[in-house]
Amino acid sequence: MATTATEKGLLIDGEWVETGDWVEVRSPYSGDLVARVARAGAEEALRAVGAAEQAMRDPLPAHKRAEILVRVAGQLGRRHEEVARTICAEAGKPLKAAKVEAARAMSTFTMAAVEARKLAGEMVPMDASQAGTGKLAFTLRRPVGVVGAISPFNFPLNLVAHKIAPALAAGCAVVLKPASQTPLSALLLAELETEAGLPPGWLNVLVGSASEIGDVLVEDERVKLISFTGSSGVGWGLRERAPRKRVNLELGNATPVIVEADADLDDVAGRLAANAFSFAGQSCISVQRIYVQRAAYDDLLARFLPKVEALKVGDPADDETDVGPVIDADARDRILAWIEEARSAGAEFLSGGALDGELLPPTVIAGAGPELKVSCEEVFGPVCTVTPYDTLDEAIELANGTCYGLQAGIFTASLKSALAAAQRLEFGGVTVNEAPTFRADQMPYGGVKDSGNTREGPAYAVRELTEERLVVVEL
Ligand code: NAP
Repeated sequence: MATTATEKGLLIDGEWVETGDWVEVRSPYSGDLVARVARAGAEEALRAVGAAEQAMRDPLPAHKRAEILVRVAGQLGRRHEEVARTICAEAGKPLKAAKVEAARAMSTFTMAAVEARKLAGEMVPMDASQAGTGKLAFTLRRPVGVVGAISPFNFPLNLVAHKIAPALAAGCAVVLKPASQTPLSALLLAELETEAGLPPGWLNVLVGSASEIGDVLVEDERVKLISFTGSSGVGWGLRERAPRKRVNLELGNATPVIVEADADLDDVAGRLAANAFSFAGQSCISVQRIYVQRAAYDDLLARFLPKVEALKVGDPADDETDVGPVIDADARDRILAWIEEARSAGAEFLSGGALDGELLPPTVIAGAGPELKVSCEEVFGPVCTVTPYDTLDEAIELANGTCYGLQAGIFTASLKSALAAAQRLEFGGVTVNEAPTFRADQMPYGGVKDSGNTREGPAYAVRELTEERLVVVEL
């Protein structure tokens, strides 16, 4: 991947800062150095929190916040190719998926601008009780305060957008810590916000030690809310350590999909092949567990497997590539170990299952028992299981049988089955006749059980990022 290594500073209080120490960003595909970014620690984190708190003393009116958000959306459109190539270079995300992410970030900023202009409280009907007679009351929505935002590697642009755009819409300043492996998209977004007229201190970006920066965000009382997207262990650990703060968690999943025998199997096969393996399965809602009604099992596999085999595995910078590398060698080794566990337990490999050069090819496993890691934990790699079932009750039980609850899907021609599944699947979202990997950025998005405790999507995030203040007026 021909990318020239560059050096980037951190953004603190409107200044691009160097620290004399560097985090190297390397291509997950070639190992080439993509860039070096100044490394932050606790000292920079404390300065950033101070700058954010200071910024919020001079609130920005809603129309200014909305104008900035709209300008960033425009710039994301104008610099689309550069943005997509940055995602591709640092995350190893195939360019075609990186382009979709870049376009979605535009949508996230656009939706956040709408929310900035709509942000308002509500009237309280005071004469509804005797106690309220002669009084008028309404609520104001006030920004919650400084937000500490922590984001993962897999959507290095759009998940950062889901942190910083709603925060600005709500009137909150942010200290952002992007994933160390993928900080460049976040720094590019910070550059765009600065160019769009965001005053100093409203957005601060720190790259570096997760524990040092995380400790400051947890312990510093000036940080009122932590917004975390990443793995369940880290997320719930942060929440336990900060009982007096709001800690909003968007975490993992082991995404199930149910295919009833009456579904349109050609359509299902195409959607599942695309959504189990795109970005090598490194999406929190990548299709992982496919449950197929027994009468359609062979038929679905006959349509699904050729589509899986047709996916192009290779260099993410190639426009044709569907499946690139996973983020690093540790992730690859972990996924290989889970594949070996399934092999030792007697599972059958219908596709993939061994390295293709340095890359993991799309891997489809049949006969994997529910106790195996590929069946009950989040693989976060290009691996899915296929399992036959007899009744919808059994399928729903299997789908609900992990600790996760982010999104699930069902394919069926029956409205009754679709609505039964929608009511009984214990997930934050259920898709019908669409892969559960689907997300549009205005949707309320988030999980139950171990998958999280909040909803993102600008309209929903803004509610979490504001406090309702009651005003009572004696008439
Ligand atoms: P991760 O290892 O949990 O890292 C996420 C972020 O947390 C990174 O910025 C990381 O920093 C930071 N971090 C790690 N340890 C920390 C600590 N002790 N204190 C504070 N911050 C800490 O997750 P990942 O591997 O990047 O991302 C994959 C996970 O994210 C998967 O489980 C996936 O399902 C989940 N995810 C969820 C959603 C959703 O919306 N629900 C969306 C995307 C991804 P460093 O990079 O510096 O270690």
